[in-house]
Amino acid sequence: MPVQTTDELAPRGRVALGLLRETQPGERRVALVPSDVKRLSASFDILAEEGAGARAGFSDGDYEAAGSRTVPVERIRGSARVVVGIRAPFWATELAAGATLLSLPRVTRAQGMDVLSSQASIIGYAAVLEGAQHLPMILPMLTTAAGVIRPANVMVLGAGVAGLQALATARRLGAVTHGFDVRTAAREQVESVGATFVAPDVVLASTETTGGYAREQSKDEQKSLRRALSDHLRKMNLIITTAQIPGQPAPLLIDDETLALLSPGTVIVDLAAESGGNTSRTLADQEVLVGDVTILGPTQLASRNAGDASRLFSGNIRQLLEHVGVKDGALQLNQSDPIVSALLGLLADGETGSP
Ligand code: NAD
Repeated sequence: MPVQTTDELAPRGRVALGLLRETQPGERRVALVPSDVKRLSASFDILAEEGAGARAGFSDGDYEAAGSRTVPVERIRGSARVVVGIRAPFWATELAAGATLLSLPRVTRAQGMDVLSSQASIIGYAAVLEGAQHLPMILPMLTTAAGVIRPANVMVLGAGVAGLQALATARRLGAVTHGFDVRTAAREQVESVGATFVAPDVVLASTETTGGYAREQSKDEQKSLRRALSDHLRKMNLIITTAQIPGQPAPLLIDDETLALLSPGTVIVDLAAESGGNTSRTLADQEVLVGDVTILGPTQLASRNAGDASRLFSGNIRQLLEHVGVKDGALQLNQSDPIVSALLGLLADGETGSP
């Protein structure tokens, strides 16, 4: 079937928006959920790829009821002016001629559009459940006629968005929680979710960049940090590591020397596995046994809870599209707007976008 042009497809004044079905193995999320499709349909003519939301719990019928049309991917490739997906499709480079690629800025005003934060919240929660399933113990204290079980000790290294959610989740499940981050501002946040902030003596005032992220530490700083942490880590049952430095390999927080000190049965869930890992033995998406310590490096945790992860991702995309706005059948890319100017990575002139 010949691909129809946007003008033939999209009712006047609306922008043809293609919603992709993800193709990466293990990826179950979808970038827009039916409730957001409904909210966007006044400005966008939404073409949802067949089966786009099926693995996140949303049927083609749900999308159609929300106002979209179900189409094969070829139709999206040929006529959508805006394409949304969790991951860029392999044919994204074909958009280069006359396309604008959108990526997301991390500023306070853009918080509602920040997919990294929304997905990190889900991942932090899922990491605790993943670790708990591998532990030889339960998390809460239990008093029974057969005896008393002490609560598990959980440590989170890296108290950003995922780390704070992991701390809050572990505490809700009854664990005694401990947190650490190199950013001084994180101390108050760790304490606000009921955890103890450990090793504050090694937190340096200059570890935070102006953007609020951690800066890379020197080799000596990293070494003294590892030694200061190892004393605390040996008392833990579950350790969740999330430490990342934007644009750099993940810092090494747990080396072979520390691994050898950990209690038998300790489980480490390393959320930095994709960028090299926070331990010396992490392997992405594998379970590694070092002595009696289990190290997990899951990289698809958000897909475990694909429905809710998609709801949040979709909320981010909807807020982004509403912020950008549509005028005369095209995205309104107002370069003087600080969010729009920050998110435009110009490939060429035009208005097709892939958030
Ligand atoms: P991230 O995923 O880049 O890193 C996770 C955590 O690891 C960070 O807290 C970082 O400080 C920590 N870390 C780095 N090196 C470490 C080390 N050697 N030891 C221990 N911890 C180390 O960070 P993130 O979760 O995306 O966000 C970090 C901060 O930025 C948070 O305070 C968050 O609230 C803020 N933020 C703001 C916005 C916004 O304003 N829109 C958006 C996202 C994040």
